[in-house]
Amino acid sequence: MLSKKVSKTGKGKTQKAEKEAQQAKKQATPESRRFAEQAKINIGMVGHVDHGKTSLTQALTGKWTDTHSEELKRGISIRLGYADVTFYKCGCCKGAEAYTNKAVCPLCGKKTKSVRKVSFVDAPGHETLMTTMLSGAALMNGAVLVIAANEKCPQPQTNEHLMALKIAGVEKIVVAQNKIDLVEMKEAIENRKQIQAFLEKNGYKNVPIVPISANFAGNLNFLIEAIEECIPTPKFDLKKPLLMYCARSFDINKPGTKAKDLRGGVVGGSIIQGKAGIGEKILIRPGIEGKQLSTDIRSLSCSSGPLKETVPGGLIAIGTGLDPSLTQNDRMRGQVIGTGKSLPQPINELEVELTYLKRLVSSVESSINSNQLVVLTVGTMTVIGTVTSIHGNKAKILLRDRIVILPDQKIALSKKSGGRWQLVAYAIAK
Ligand code: GDP
Ligand code: ZN
Repeated sequence: MLSKKVSKTGKGKTQKAEKEAQQAKKQATPESRRFAEQAKINIGMVGHVDHGKTSLTQALTGKWTDTHSEELKRGISIRLGYADVTFYKCGCCKGAEAYTNKAVCPLCGKKTKSVRKVSFVDAPGHETLMTTMLSGAALMNGAVLVIAANEKCPQPQTNEHLMALKIAGVEKIVVAQNKIDLVEMKEAIENRKQIQAFLEKNGYKNVPIVPISANFAGNLNFLIEAIEECIPTPKFDLKKPLLMYCARSFDINKPGTKAKDLRGGVVGGSIIQGKAGIGEKILIRPGIEGKQLSTDIRSLSCSSGPLKETVPGGLIAIGTGLDPSLTQNDRMRGQVIGTGKSLPQPINELEVELTYLKRLVSSVESSINSNQLVVLTVGTMTVIGTVTSIHGNKAKILLRDRIVILPDQKIALSKKSGGRWQLVAYAIAK
């Protein structure tokens, strides 16, 4: 007892205390600060309104992403929801039982091992928000299609969302057959058959259909297992020049911050190729008011903290030297970030080759005529345009604002029908 007291106050410090002090000092310096882990992949949460996307995102990640209905009521901008989660596997439990979203196994109480960190992108399912969903699809590397077991399949947005995934090139999907608590076994089996037929008709093969209940967190381990087995992390090309889709942006300064303490604008989204490091110069196109923006990377982060470097996959945010007023309220949504070499020049006039989408459910007239008003979704950008001429499947379109189109990028085309924008075709710029 006595010796302990002496050693604490006596001749300097004990070795332990000294070590602790050194460690604290280390942690206080930015260089050695512990960095967060970036999610490896973006997984979309898609499907018809009210089928349980937001409930499932919450059951998996613990985060309630639904700002959609509230925003709808207030008639303001409608955003995508985002939430990160780490999936774990228990070394003792077998099969699907081993998968969990907890660091401690709920079955045997042992510490689990982290398998993969993923970002979920929760797309709004409301019919009027199809263009938001489409811009979200550009970020998705895979998707969970949520289908309620107590309704006939497909519902209109079940169909539209699957078409959007197809256009965006999202091939790896898992179906969460939700609200299983509301149906009898017979009904669940019948619904499963409808889902299978629907997937097949759309060219999606070998898609696992996992019966779950988001509200009761039922069968989530089976869903996590299916995600881990069927939605692998894509192989991204880190050697190519940087390209990133901006999905949101914000001003992180508190009101009343003094000018000298102001921090630059923050842009959030996902890198689609290459990587980004602090200090690097970036270009943002099409930019604001006809001018591209040029700045440098001041900080990098994800939802769980600062990052040393960012790569393609999960959602990230870049702190820049931009005037924060430029990044307020998602003003930069849809912009493409890159370096000089990788970024095409913005255009406002283009010639495209159209492919009309076959509709399973709705009776929307899918053809596009001259003088037609259309919405183009390219990456995370949406822009209104007018079809100035059309011959066969070739159309010329004049846009209200300039956009960046990457080589071979698919463009989703929506037209107004029944008071809302309906996805009718996709196009490739010629
Ligand atoms: P979203 O529009 O697809 O995001 O759907 P929400 O997550 O907002 O869910 C719509 C409604 O369905 C809410 O009232 C939820 O409580 C309910 N719901 C979601 N999942 C389940 C489930 O597994 N079982 C039951 N009984 N209700 C559910
Ligand atoms: Zn276990």
